[in-house]
Amino acid sequence: MEHKANQLAPRIKRKTLQMRSLCFLCALLICVNAKGDQSAVVSVYHHVSNSTPPSTSLSPEAFRAHLSFLAENDFTVLPVTEIISELNRGGELPSKSVAITFDDGYESIYSTAFPLLREFGFPFSVFVSTGPIDRQQAGYMTWEQLSMLRDAGVIIGNHGTEHRSMLGQSRDQARADILDAQSRITAELGPQPHLFAYPYGEYSNESKEIIAELGFIGFAQTSGAIGPTTDQTALPRFPLAGLYAGLEGAALKYSTLAFDAEMTVPESAETRLSAPTATIRFGAGAYSRARLSCFDEGEPMTIAWENTDEGSEQAVITTTHRERGRRWNYVCTAPHRDQDRYFWFSQPWFDSSKSL
Ligand SMILES: [Zn+2]
Repeated sequence: MEHKANQLAPRIKRKTLQMRSLCFLCALLICVNAKGDQSAVVSVYHHVSNSTPPSTSLSPEAFRAHLSFLAENDFTVLPVTEIISELNRGGELPSKSVAITFDDGYESIYSTAFPLLREFGFPFSVFVSTGPIDRQQAGYMTWEQLSMLRDAGVIIGNHGTEHRSMLGQSRDQARADILDAQSRITAELGPQPHLFAYPYGEYSNESKEIIAELGFIGFAQTSGAIGPTTDQTALPRFPLAGLYAGLEGAALKYSTLAFDAEMTVPESAETRLSAPTATIRFGAGAYSRARLSCFDEGEPMTIAWENTDEGSEQAVITTTHRERGRRWNYVCTAPHRDQDRYFWFSQPWFDSSKSL
């Protein structure tokens, strides 16, 4: 187990290199579609309780309904590390692969979610902020409870020491925050895979560079499925609490597929604009370009297509000005050609001049 934990980050790096050569071979053989079929969904929960803040909670009954849906509809729930390893290896993932994660390390994960997940036999991961746990802050798990989760095979990831946003921290502060939290995790629980969930889901290009330099995999809180070309310094995860706790929405999201997509302009998700225009490259996949739609807060956006010099197609998506908070997303979806599932990509925006 320790060996495995220590080896995860470098192993992933090597596999990324192997994947590159494989991609080149794939391009030669024109098997891009086969690559695009590898896809998985990662969800993020916080509290499973009726007595915690509604926006980050869902009831034990709603959580059980999510797990029953996965169990009854041929989903394969995997440790998130296994999904990443398979994608990097170019291996085959089951067609409905899912990983379940929790952020912060709240008590209801131990008391309520853990027994339910054990009943269903589903693996999961917990990203902890180490400061509140060290202080034995009310509402958080203890290190002893986290040890019991670890003994049951749960992966314990890093969510910073004090849940500070990466935006506004200097490079040195951000590095120290990640490394200090990881050394507390290692001291209490032994070596764990190097996984980092950005507090508030917020990241800059610089924080993504730090994550890569330190050999971590980064997790955001942006909706969307993950595939072989998804940026592993900010992997999307579907938040499924509060407004998104309902079974119908959760079922739709757990069933989504990854686009081979990335934003090319602007180069950063950090913005001061209220209606940034984005250029998004969409690679080949089992969907029709004509049926691709993008939404800003549920409102349809305007899409103009342009060809790139490399022969792929880019969508220039535009929206209208509106009042923004600190974080918002553009969401693009397209129905699968043959299956009753949607491809799903979203682009987050962060305006750190606004309050948290
Ligand atoms: Zn958090």
